[in-house]
Amino acid sequence: MSIVEVGWMKRLAVYLHIPFCARKCPYCDFNSHVTSDGSLVQRYLEALDTEIRLASQQPEVKGRAISTIFFGGGTPSLLSGKELNRLLDTCREFLPVEPQAEITCEANPGTVTLEKLTALRRGGFNRLSFGAQSFQSHVLDRLGRIHSARDTVRSVRSAREAGFENLSLDLIFAAPGQSLQDWQSDLQQAVDLGPDHLSTYSLTIEPGTEFGELYRKGQLKPLDEETDAAMFETALDFLPEAGYNQYEISNFAHPGRQCQHNLIYWHNEEWLGLGAGAHQHLNGIRRWNVKSPAKYVELMETRGLATEDWEQVAIPVQMGETMMVGLRLLRGVSTDAFRDRFGVNLEETFPQPIRKLTRLGLLHVTEDRMALTRKGILFANQACLEFV
Ligand code: SF4
Repeated sequence: MSIVEVGWMKRLAVYLHIPFCARKCPYCDFNSHVTSDGSLVQRYLEALDTEIRLASQQPEVKGRAISTIFFGGGTPSLLSGKELNRLLDTCREFLPVEPQAEITCEANPGTVTLEKLTALRRGGFNRLSFGAQSFQSHVLDRLGRIHSARDTVRSVRSAREAGFENLSLDLIFAAPGQSLQDWQSDLQQAVDLGPDHLSTYSLTIEPGTEFGELYRKGQLKPLDEETDAAMFETALDFLPEAGYNQYEISNFAHPGRQCQHNLIYWHNEEWLGLGAGAHQHLNGIRRWNVKSPAKYVELMETRGLATEDWEQVAIPVQMGETMMVGLRLLRGVSTDAFRDRFGVNLEETFPQPIRKLTRLGLLHVTEDRMALTRKGILFANQACLEFV
């Protein structure tokens, strides 16, 4: 059992949502918005600052060690170094942030300079996650990205120069028009840049996005499933050979460089989610804020609370969710940790899904763990859903 699994009761992650982007990418269904209203952005930052202070007063938060902080979006790196550092200062002032906490900022390579990255490093950020997505200009154009491959190379070099020792790159595969050769080249170019961590996501066409609309009208053809699967398997083979160990379905890292923040999600631990549309999971209660940044600002200014709704997560649901997210990890779920947390035996709680997945060759059960097999990893979404 890892220290992480033993310590699930104590530590807490903090997620801060920055919902602004320079341009809406056509595939994106995140809570991200393009705005030219500078005063809305400033009021949003004030509101978020207030929410951090108020969150620190919650009894469930007091005394909890904050081991990770993640600024996600949207595009947090659209903000200035000063604005981001100010939010981080507020976290540090009001929350018990551990000295060695992992503090990540998501960054779009089209929005950073050496000066900004140096300011972030000095301000206490110690990890950057760049949305590189691809190194092929035709893929970046199709994805509507505002940056070039050259921007990514420059950003990574600047980040190293600024003193960041923990860098991650996000890559997308199965984008419309992307070939297997494009993807192989993307993987090679990403590895050549020497990041510490890589995330590879298959593009999904979501309803309500520009791509979703084009697909509905028959004007966008998704990549076929065979090529999508071949791309995923290419990453599964190539990245470990290049020194990046797969530790989660979509995530690969040099030893010791796994994303600690996301591990808290995958262990189904607890986190504070602050900002427009942010979800949090604390003390068996899931709570989420209103999605619209303007509404969030208005509610924070008038009521000091922007909750849209909340729900109690019943223990059986928590158990199912623990399996659903835990099996995404290559190490799988520790049967001891499950028993310590819920007071019941894992095999006796989920006899049917365990039998079914084992019979299909998707799940591997050992004395103290359950994990997906290689075949299970290829069908991870369907396999994990068996538990909820
Ligand atoms: S930069 Fe990221 S968050 Fe913003 S629109 Fe594009 S994919 Fe969405």
